[in-house]
Amino acid sequence: EEVVSPYQVGEDRDVETSLRPKSLTEFVGQVRVRDQLGVVLESAKRRDQAPDHILLSGPPGLGKTSLAFIIALELGASIRVTSGPAIERAGDLAAMLSNLAEGDVLFIDEIHRIARPAEEMLYVAMEDFRVDVVVGKGPGATAIPLDVAPFTLVGATTRSGLLTGPLRDRFGFTAHMDFYSKDELVRVLHRSARLLEIDLTDEGADEIGRRSRGTPRIANRLLRRARDFAQVRANGVLTREVCRAALAVYDIDEIGLDRLDKLVLEALVNGFAGGPVGVSTLAIAVGEESQTIEEVVEPFLVRAGLLARTQRGRIATESAWQHLGLTPPTGR
Ligand code: ATP
Repeated sequence: EEVVSPYQVGEDRDVETSLRPKSLTEFVGQVRVRDQLGVVLESAKRRDQAPDHILLSGPPGLGKTSLAFIIALELGASIRVTSGPAIERAGDLAAMLSNLAEGDVLFIDEIHRIARPAEEMLYVAMEDFRVDVVVGKGPGATAIPLDVAPFTLVGATTRSGLLTGPLRDRFGFTAHMDFYSKDELVRVLHRSARLLEIDLTDEGADEIGRRSRGTPRIANRLLRRARDFAQVRANGVLTREVCRAALAVYDIDEIGLDRLDKLVLEALVNGFAGGPVGVSTLAIAVGEESQTIEEVVEPFLVRAGLLARTQRGRIATESAWQHLGLTPPTGR
């Protein structure tokens, strides 16, 4: 299951750091985001000011963390890294903010999960470069304002819909990241193969790229699994046949659907006559967390044209029935 997870799993940590692109030009795909971000960063550099705060939004594993590091590198700034769940108390955030130097980048991953009091402190810091530290309790409590050096907040979220309005409004630029095309993933794969000294043929890259669910993190992981297979069962070269045989082990079909995607589609089609049905009902039907269905399964199925979101719930498209080898009911 972990092989096709878009989230970072244990084995990814070290290798991902070595595979991270180090500049906007090295960053494959996301052309629109790259162009827009290039202008934002370049103009800030010319004005010699910190750029507006930047929100990166999109499914896991598409390169938000990589982009945050690139933003800092392109600005020649230092980056401090934290995450929404790690900031439990406003005091934790106050300490981080007051330690920033002018021009630093503060990267907050999963920013939609930040605790409310910390979030309120963050708005003020983003807008006025100030934090109000409350000293004492009850009626005697006083707020002491502290200056914060002008910094750039880079927030990443898989669920921009969960951000509160005031927080969202304080980002000057939002980059919406989308799944990668197969050709873009092929470029990511060739780049990674070069860095990891893996012998990957064009056909092998095509085979892995097609099945990586539009996600570079999964592509890189499948590349490593195919490399293992090639070393043990073949002569180390990742041909199409070797990649096919390696990937067959992991239950990923021709268009990249994994076991859970198929379970969801089957539940929708067979259990609910194609929908409409709510996400939580679907999640229960397949025995998964709603969050996984919403963050991982659904965005990919929508992108693949197999599932549609409607006001009344999720529905299977005609292609979904066809993909499962079934005939869609007439008059839908
Ligand atoms: P999460 O939301 O789970 O933190 P993420 O969106 O921040 O994920 P990253 O950690 O930046 O994703 O990327 C995962 C892996 O994919 C990294 O190893 C990175 O090297 C690779 N990667 C992502 N995007 C690209 C890209 N555009 N070009 C080359 N490699 C990429």
